[in-house]
Amino acid sequence: MVSAWIRAIAAAVEEHRDQLTQLDAAIGDADHGANMSRGFTAVLAALDDFQPSTVGDVLVKTGSTLMSTVGGASGPLYGTAFRAAGKALTGPTASPQQLIAALHAATAAVTQLGAATLGDKTMLDALAPAVTALEEAVFQGADLAAAVADAAKAAEDGAHSTIPLQARKGRASYLGPRSIGHQDPGATSTALIFTALAGVVA
Ligand code: ADP
Ligand code: MG
Ligand code: MG
Repeated sequence: MVSAWIRAIAAAVEEHRDQLTQLDAAIGDADHGANMSRGFTAVLAALDDFQPSTVGDVLVKTGSTLMSTVGGASGPLYGTAFRAAGKALTGPTASPQQLIAALHAATAAVTQLGAATLGDKTMLDALAPAVTALEEAVFQGADLAAAVADAAKAAEDGAHSTIPLQARKGRASYLGPRSIGHQDPGATSTALIFTALAGVVA
């Protein structure tokens, strides 16, 4: 399932590459689509002949590859997120509770590296609500597919919620109030990542 997720992310990144670039053109340096595409193309190649022994291995490999192939802010941030999630998943399969714990680890890693808080107009504004929604749905007894669908919806809502915000982290923050009125590219790619997960879990 994890490899299918990564392949689905790579496909979504290609499909939305121009959108990610356009969003980054408005408040950054117009490379987020290219960065994500370069990274996930390298990830697919790295996973091609990779023999994982745990579910987490695939995510650790994904993160390490993103770190070494994607420059800028998003490479290290997504790299550390996937690596942290992977290191938390040490079994041959992952339960919903283990997936939640892994996503908490990813959120903590992003927060530690990027020092952003909610509302700073970053990928965290999609990631944190998605993890909360997943946890809440599982706690209320939803099956994994329904819970991940909730998480994907929360990530998309979170990405949209960045539009009226002024960026306080990353390149977009250099624009000050001129960053208002545009959706954050990293929050948008994070929503794609959760939508891809919903697609493979469904
Ligand atoms: P760069 O800004 O270096 O060109 P990208 O364009 O690939 O890198 O990624 C930009 C995205 O990275 C932003 O839209 C934002 O979501 C995310 N980002 C930037 N800085 C931070 C940070 N400190 N914490 C969390 N996310 C961040
Ligand atoms: Mg950029
Ligand atoms: Mg850049």
